[in-house]
Amino acid sequence: MNTPSHAILNLVSLDAALSLTPTLRWTAMLGGILPDVPIFGFYIWAKFIAKLPESQIWSEAYYWPLNQTIVAISHSIPLALLGLAIATWQRWPIVQVLCLSCILHDLGDLPLHHEDAHRHFFPLSDWRFISPVSYWDPKHYGAIAAGCEFTAVAIASLWLSGRSATKIGAIVLVGVNLLYGLGYARFYLKL
Ligand SMILES: [Zn+2]
Repeated sequence: MNTPSHAILNLVSLDAALSLTPTLRWTAMLGGILPDVPIFGFYIWAKFIAKLPESQIWSEAYYWPLNQTIVAISHSIPLALLGLAIATWQRWPIVQVLCLSCILHDLGDLPLHHEDAHRHFFPLSDWRFISPVSYWDPKHYGAIAAGCEFTAVAIASLWLSGRSATKIGAIVLVGVNLLYGLGYARFYLKL
């Protein structure tokens, strides 16, 4: 799933389930983004420091063992569960929501990655669920998956804007939905 979708959908689902305080709402969004932060870090390094060509970044460098291990750690369900258990034991609500949101992120990625599937059970197992559906690859129902993802985000955005969106929040929501709409039209509908 695309990173902004994780942030928006995690915020809506955790807020609906737990009636979060404003601080915990930010935490839920942060937890939705956190597992993908190493991927952004890798891209910035590959593009601007190592100056690798775009094609090599995603087809080769992304699969280098060190990068894959870092991404496996950030997308690990057992490690997030361990964090949740420690936070519950210590009564740290911010860390609890952060870990819950990371787990939701992982559960969102699990059915939507094909050849770039993460090792969600690392370090207990290196097994990857190679889903028949990819959130981006047209060869693996990408058009349908992206259509469903963007629709879910649009509905979640409407729900948020009717509830508690700040001015900055509203601008971000409109921006994300606009980018998704334009991206979909260009990439899948070839408009
Ligand atoms: Zn992810």
